[in-house]
Amino acid sequence: MTQENKFLKRLLQWHDENPRDMPWSGITDPYSIWISEVILQQTRVAQGWDYYLSFIDKFPDVDMLASANEDEVLKAWEGLGYYSRARNILKSAHIIVKEYAGVFPNEYDQIIALPGIGPYTAAAIGSFAFGIKKPVLDGNVLRVITRYTGNDSDILNNKTKKEIQIYLEEVMTRVDDPAVFNQAIMNFGALQCTPGIPNCNECIMSKNCIAHKENIVEFLPVKLKKIKKKNRYLNFIDLRDDQGNFLIHRRQAKDIWKGLYEFFLIESKAEIDIKKELLKKEFKDFGISVKGKIAIEKQSSYKHQLTHQTIYGKIFTVRCQKILDGGPNMLITNSLSEYAFPKLLDLYLQDNLETYD
Ligand code: SF4
Repeated sequence: MTQENKFLKRLLQWHDENPRDMPWSGITDPYSIWISEVILQQTRVAQGWDYYLSFIDKFPDVDMLASANEDEVLKAWEGLGYYSRARNILKSAHIIVKEYAGVFPNEYDQIIALPGIGPYTAAAIGSFAFGIKKPVLDGNVLRVITRYTGNDSDILNNKTKKEIQIYLEEVMTRVDDPAVFNQAIMNFGALQCTPGIPNCNECIMSKNCIAHKENIVEFLPVKLKKIKKKNRYLNFIDLRDDQGNFLIHRRQAKDIWKGLYEFFLIESKAEIDIKKELLKKEFKDFGISVKGKIAIEKQSSYKHQLTHQTIYGKIFTVRCQKILDGGPNMLITNSLSEYAFPKLLDLYLQDNLETYD
């Protein structure tokens, strides 16, 4: 029996002996699989599943989603982060309605051509909904295969991913049910061939696993690329007046949180105390005019970690008698709950505003 055949036989045997009931088990509708995969890529299952249920409740099918506006979709996505994913979901919904009459495409090349759908999500939708033989290459799967085959190339390199994909596509040619295979290998990575030091002595693959035989399990998979992180200092001015109005605007630049709302922002290269600066200028330099004296009531700090950036957010709660003019691109509103804010500002509002939820 070839190495691939042994791998397949043992994997399916392990899967039979280790059933894992997940909330999405048995879902075959491509729209639901798509939304759940995108949401669960960025959050833990317990938390993500609630988001998924509420998203599907608001937008139960692709037609309902496509008829929503961007603000509604971003509001439903609020708190999940990576808002470009929500915008891509909306763009894809428009394409499905326009080009496929609202019916989710059932070919891998059509699925992967949709905005925001990469090889992993396309393989998940393809295999779980349509029985397409494409492997899901997530971190768990890459770990299992690099160890089983003793592959010590950098898994962050696309060439290595391609090699592993080819290996798995070869294995999948012998598979009857691609959905079962993909679920089995993901579960095997999550439960048996775990990060760190797994329990190889009680593993069904141990006889043929090269990493185990050569005693190199703890060194695989290899990840060489280091992510360069940058610090950003965002100073937000939460200007509110005695009538309960706030000053906000929608982020337009090609940057994090595009399309979400925020308070008046001054970004700086390092930590600064803008209190004095702000009081001195009294907003006039920014085109904002107010009635009455401006007073800084409070300063709050929040740190938010993104993959490539650490955000140090300071929010100044500033009061005036009346906001007369918001200045360019600013919006005066007394109903913040209608708008989607980045997580950092959402936390601040929950901590500081009773009427916000
Ligand atoms: S023997 Fe160890 S390293 Fe190899 S597949 Fe099993 S758990 Fe993973």
